Amino acid sequence: MSRLIVVSNRVNPPTGKGDESVGGLAMALAAALREYSGIWFGWSGKTTTEFTGQLNMQKADGVTVATVDLEEGDYQEYYNGYANKTLWPLFHYRVDLTAYDRSFGEGYDRVNRRFAQTLLPLIEPDDIIWVHDYHLIPMARELRRLGVTNRIGFFLHIPWPAHQLVVTLPRHRPLVEALFHYDLVGFQTEESVQAFEGYVFNEVGGERTEDGRLTAFGQVTRAAAFPIGIDAEDFARIKESPRATRVYDRLMAHSVFRKMVVGVDRLDYSKGLEERLIGFERFLHDNPQARREVMLLQIAPISRDEVEAYQDLRGRLDGLIGRINGAYADMDYNPIRYLNRSYRRDELAGVYRASKAALVTPLRDGMNLVAKEYVASQTPYDPGVLILSRFAGAARQMKEALIINPNSPEEISDALTRALNMDIDERRRRFESLMDNVTRQDVTAWRDDFVAQLREPTPTPALTR
Ligand code: UDP
Repeated sequence: MSRLIVVSNRVNPPTGKGDESVGGLAMALAAALREYSGIWFGWSGKTTTEFTGQLNMQKADGVTVATVDLEEGDYQEYYNGYANKTLWPLFHYRVDLTAYDRSFGEGYDRVNRRFAQTLLPLIEPDDIIWVHDYHLIPMARELRRLGVTNRIGFFLHIPWPAHQLVVTLPRHRPLVEALFHYDLVGFQTEESVQAFEGYVFNEVGGERTEDGRLTAFGQVTRAAAFPIGIDAEDFARIKESPRATRVYDRLMAHSVFRKMVVGVDRLDYSKGLEERLIGFERFLHDNPQARREVMLLQIAPISRDEVEAYQDLRGRLDGLIGRINGAYADMDYNPIRYLNRSYRRDELAGVYRASKAALVTPLRDGMNLVAKEYVASQTPYDPGVLILSRFAGAARQMKEALIINPNSPEEISDALTRALNMDIDERRRRFESLMDNVTRQDVTAWRDDFVAQLREPTPTPALTR
């Protein structure tokens, strides 16, 4: 069996079983790496004054981890710059927040080249290589330049935007061309696949081959949707854990006569946090009887706080929450409980279970795993209701959620009213269908499907769209 090499910006292996600080994705990848005795390669998270290309090799819980430090300037241009100020906003449809600095693109290409050079000596002829996410789109091109002929796959965890947005990038062609150096390119949704194809067909005159692949730039690749999931089995264990139960009991004791609604998101402008709060404000305004009864617990750990757009958002959220609480709070009631720290997954499981409804309202999201974790944390005898933005990749699969447009405060308010008054039969029916999806399309299925297709591509019949 050939080895698997996983390449991602950050390398985050679990330190042991039951490490609840590590996400489901890291767990699933680590499990695959153990199985295929592979390597996980990426940035160490450290910066140095000058790039040395020195590989740090470690074994963590049975996984071989290889990391490299980044030069400070590279970190600014590649990570804070092109990845988080250019690609992230643009791919989440925020042209207004997108920085088009040329130096960022140069730093991005340079880091990808340096990563490829550093990884090269570790690659054996039979290895298959799986590159993750928007930080590393040019990895395959750089590896090919160094003579690597192994099978290389790429998975984009965030949305691929519409053609009209991609072309706002001054160097959109080389970026898309870079994807044609992969054997397989995976997206979260069929919608992203179509957006990618839209660019390929309309911008660069690409075509679909007989066997369903794409050809452009004199190269061929295959693009397909692989919707990511959570580690459902692990979550089933986590939600029964003592810590989850403790958190649940504590919250229930505190909210005896209250209904709790939950939101859990990195503090990011793609998550629709302002829109959610305005929707909640509308709900309080329209439902005077709910004012002492319903509270929103919003967990929003600070993220990317070196980037101005994130600092600005944080300031606006502080103001908005202050205003809503000021208007609707009472001496023994606060409508919004707002927390800027992060919690372990077992703690979140307890929070989810104690909540009558979840507001998952991103303006754009590749998938959104919180939506799936919320469902996985419910109990069949009294499940909560998921309110989900139509712009989350998860909405394509989770059709039994209350699907809303996050731009509409009225829709958020109406969905809350509906969720909090929904009878038990309807809640159960919706939960069962959602849970079935969360269990079947979990992270292991996602990973195995991608790796199998990368290893032995099954030709897709030419699609007629
Ligand atoms: N998360 C966490 N602690 C927190 C907040 C979030 O562990 O305090 C986790 C959450 O459980 C989920 C992930 O972070 O697994 C967020 O994934 P999602 O796809 O929802 O959004 P992303 O942050 O990747 O854009």
